[in-house]
Amino acid sequence: MTIVSKQRLSEALNQLPRVHLAHLPTPLDFCPRLSRLMNGPKIWIKRDDCTGLAFGGNKARQHEFILGDAVHRGVDVVIQGAASQSNQSRQLAAAAARLGLECILMPRKDALFQSVQGNQLIARLFGAKIVPIEPTESVKKAKEDMAAKLRAEGRNPAILGMGSEKALSLAAVAYVAAYLEIVDQFERLSEPLPTHIYVTSQGSTQAGLQSAVRLLGHSTRICGINPMDHRNEAYEAPASIAHQCEAAARILGYDLSLLPEEINNSTDWVGSDYGLPSSAALRGAALLARTEGLLVDPVYSGKGFSGLLGDIKVGRLTSSDRVVFIHTGGLPAIFTYADTCLEGAAGALE
Ligand SMILES: *Cc1c(COP(=O)(O)O)cnc(C)c1O
Repeated sequence: MTIVSKQRLSEALNQLPRVHLAHLPTPLDFCPRLSRLMNGPKIWIKRDDCTGLAFGGNKARQHEFILGDAVHRGVDVVIQGAASQSNQSRQLAAAAARLGLECILMPRKDALFQSVQGNQLIARLFGAKIVPIEPTESVKKAKEDMAAKLRAEGRNPAILGMGSEKALSLAAVAYVAAYLEIVDQFERLSEPLPTHIYVTSQGSTQAGLQSAVRLLGHSTRICGINPMDHRNEAYEAPASIAHQCEAAARILGYDLSLLPEEINNSTDWVGSDYGLPSSAALRGAALLARTEGLLVDPVYSGKGFSGLLGDIKVGRLTSSDRVVFIHTGGLPAIFTYADTCLEGAAGALE
């Protein structure tokens, strides 16, 4: 396996079509009070909740490459379907407005659909066309049917998210770039590279980080915490995340081969289900708020953060480790789960 230089990798990234959407580089905040309290590794938080677009999050980075490619191919309408409280739908609606693309969102009529708050509220402010689908319908099929209908009308649609392998691979490519950003930040701090990176990921974000580490020959371990499991249509198993790593490398012109066993993506922190706050996430969120003045949400970033805290508690990480938690955003969700978040915060005081 040949090792690629940072320089080479960033040159390969620079060859790809890209649109400007995110405020980069995002800050890297050291967490002294949290690190001391946990009595374990040094902890930094990479603030991808601060990417700027429509309250930030990891999709702003990803859409730079996904929509860069779409614009390059002459796409005029983008389609995304997901949970009604989708972070991606919110960030996509904003990005599409900025690029002058039509955006069709197909939210599931799930338990939160009636409450136009949080992500759902924000997504509607950017002029996206909202075409709700039944909770039991396949999102993937609904998006494909919509694309077929638009094609028949002479349009040039692109499907985003689940069901578009290209979009998922380009989302991973964005996190190859994010890893280079983290390396630069550690070099500037004269700190050795992190031993571990923890992140909430359904696949793409983790795959990008993992590809970068493998291509550069670094030893940083990528630990993904999945906010969903096999019960959800969008769940990606380790074998498919390994495949995304290879696909991201291929887009950059490199051959990479990964086994599913090399992918550390945990479904242990899902709690009762995807989209439902877990008690561990609520406790973790309260701890982070009180020690560092930072917020995570109870269904995405909070679940990843609870996974990091859990691994520190069982001694999987020690005081000789240096950990980066990538904050992938999701903060508008706290308004949707206001009561639960308040109960979680009060419970943590007891
Ligand atoms: C979409 C999202 C993720 C997962 O990103 P992937 O690239 O699918 O791994 C994690 N956290 C938040 C807040 C998200 O919105």
